[in-house]
Amino acid sequence: MNLIFLGPPGAGKGTHAGMLREEIGIPQVSTGDMLRENIREGTELGLKAKRFIDAGELVPDEVVIGMVRERLSQPDCAKGYVLDGFPRTVPQAEALSRFADIDKVVNLVVGEDIILGHLSGRRVCADCRGTFHTRRLRDDKVCPDCGGRLIQREDDKPETIKNRLAVYRRQTEPLISFYRENGLLTDVPLQGELASDHAVLREALGLEA
Ligand code: ADP
Ligand code: ZN
Repeated sequence: MNLIFLGPPGAGKGTHAGMLREEIGIPQVSTGDMLRENIREGTELGLKAKRFIDAGELVPDEVVIGMVRERLSQPDCAKGYVLDGFPRTVPQAEALSRFADIDKVVNLVVGEDIILGHLSGRRVCADCRGTFHTRRLRDDKVCPDCGGRLIQREDDKPETIKNRLAVYRRQTEPLISFYRENGLLTDVPLQGELASDHAVLREALGLEA
């Protein structure tokens, strides 16, 4: 099953994709994670991407397209994958259609209040890279998985969040009609309660709830 998770920043694409990976062993291809890893490792690609990410802008299409094409050619993607955070522009979607066969595009439909709550409460572990929400943490400075230090992503600060949402509306939202027109889109409305949202998502994918 080759899937795309579409939806605004903070909708829960990464969270649900990570859960599916655990449940059915289908790799999560997150362009945000891949870009941040390139930044940490100081690669040439990471150097190119950093200033865009920190400003809440999109990294140029040619950078992410090449990265995803390479990733999808790895053996673990042969049995399916979830694209989380790609495509984010129409040119990215057009490029993808030339090197991938997508079965379904899941459009996560989430209210703005939930999105803002997710983004402002998100913390990531500096050691294991796990993602958590302050609401579900006993100590919002310590990773519950590995004891590492939890930090807030630079682009989860309020000024940058605003720009990321504007960028989403302008550049990514047009993909909803793009995929609706070619018949691949399924809307999945989420309420912000993780377990029941995930059950709704699984059902939309034809997996038992
Ligand atoms: P979120 O999980 O909040 O949606 P991501 O981790 O997916 O955030 O992305 C973080 C940042 O990485 C984006 O704001 C953007 O700068 C960059 N990025 C990720 N995916 C793409 C993409 N497909 N095209 C361009 N930029 C991207
Ligand atoms: Zn950790």
